[in-house]
Amino acid sequence: MENPKIGVISCSGEECLGGTLSRMATRKVMDELRSGEVVSLCLPLYIARGGEDREFAKKHPVIAVDGCEKCCAKEATIKYSGEVKDAVVITDLIGDTARDNEPISMRHLRTNEKDMVDQVAKEICRKVDSIYGR
Ligand code: SF4
Repeated sequence: MENPKIGVISCSGEECLGGTLSRMATRKVMDELRSGEVVSLCLPLYIARGGEDREFAKKHPVIAVDGCEKCCAKEATIKYSGEVKDAVVITDLIGDTARDNEPISMRHLRTNEKDMVDQVAKEICRKVDSIYGR
């Protein structure tokens, strides 16, 4: 697929496990699981400068991936582009540990952390497939 039609915007939480998971799972979807089918939107750039990412989100479905129930990525997308098509909230998937635990090292993942990344990535894929009508 040469021109992806779905954007994925993950939160940039540096304070907790959920923020790390949101970025890693989004990357996994982009690079491995649905490569070429989605584009990632950069939340800090989106908020600070807007530009192409905001315009993309106005014209294409966007899935927000947030580490906790504060839903920063979802709220920013709604504020600047109007709506999100779907959303993943990691505390809903793996519980309060996503909010309450420390961020993890992306270079030294343990098995249970890899499992959490896979769980979030799988949920993102489920939503991507739903939007594509699969
Ligand atoms: S959604 Fe939660 S984890 Fe993500 S940036 Fe906001 S407060 Fe941090």
